[in-house]
Amino acid sequence: MGDELLRLDGVSVQYGHGETSVTALTGVDLTVSRGELVAVMGASGSGKSTLLTVAGGLRTPTSGEVVVEGHYLSQLSARQIATLRRRSLGFVFQDFNLIPSLTALENVSLPLELDGLPLRRAKRPALDALAVVGLADRADRYPSDLSGGQQQRIAIARAVVGGRSLVLADEPTGALDSTTGEAVLRMLRSRVDAGAGGILVTHDARHAAWADRIVFLRDGRIVDDAQPTPITALLDGVGR
Ligand code: ADP
Ligand code: MG
Repeated sequence: MGDELLRLDGVSVQYGHGETSVTALTGVDLTVSRGELVAVMGASGSGKSTLLTVAGGLRTPTSGEVVVEGHYLSQLSARQIATLRRRSLGFVFQDFNLIPSLTALENVSLPLELDGLPLRRAKRPALDALAVVGLADRADRYPSDLSGGQQQRIAIARAVVGGRSLVLADEPTGALDSTTGEAVLRMLRSRVDAGAGGILVTHDARHAAWADRIVFLRDGRIVDDAQPTPITALLDGVGR
């Protein structure tokens, strides 16, 4: 499977030990291929954010295996995982997480600089990424000068800059009105269509409809793995 970007094999995550431990994920199998956007839905506490942090190498699973672009994370050192994360993965969060004292261009350049590129060489790819989300003309603005939707598009540019291939988005539209949210999803979709892969955690079935596949989590287990349409079948799948 040359197109496979991410694979979770039997991933379980337990927080804490003993009586107070919480099992957040149980035996999760999930594959994301190039050109594929997978939506993850489920109630609050069902394990969606845990799934993203494990997929992104921010947390080691209690059992099971995470494979990113063919690299088994269990076989890499913490330092190698950090490098892989910087080069291959981008995160987008609900609250944008831009650095207020940096311009849009500097925010987008940051992952490349962290990877050792001098700013003058990071600028070109960062401008390209801003152009992809339609904000090249805002490169010198600070986050506080930009709307919520623009800030989130900058966060997407930061997540994909330099050709990183896997975008992990945790309720990226949660803080946006629905029109702005759709614009952000359109950007995410177009990055995936251009050859990236993505996981989109969302509560909103209309937003999940932008995905190629929807995965439902309940109590840390995948309970259904469906095509996004028809919407009625999707809502039945939630089991309410
Ligand atoms: P979701 O994103 O779907 O709301 P989470 O992955 O955040 O779900 O949480 C899954 C479960 O794990 C919940 O029961 C939550 O309380 C628990 N949990 C999440 N993070 C931690 C943590 N750092 N320590 C202990 N329990 C946690
Ligand atoms: Mg969450």
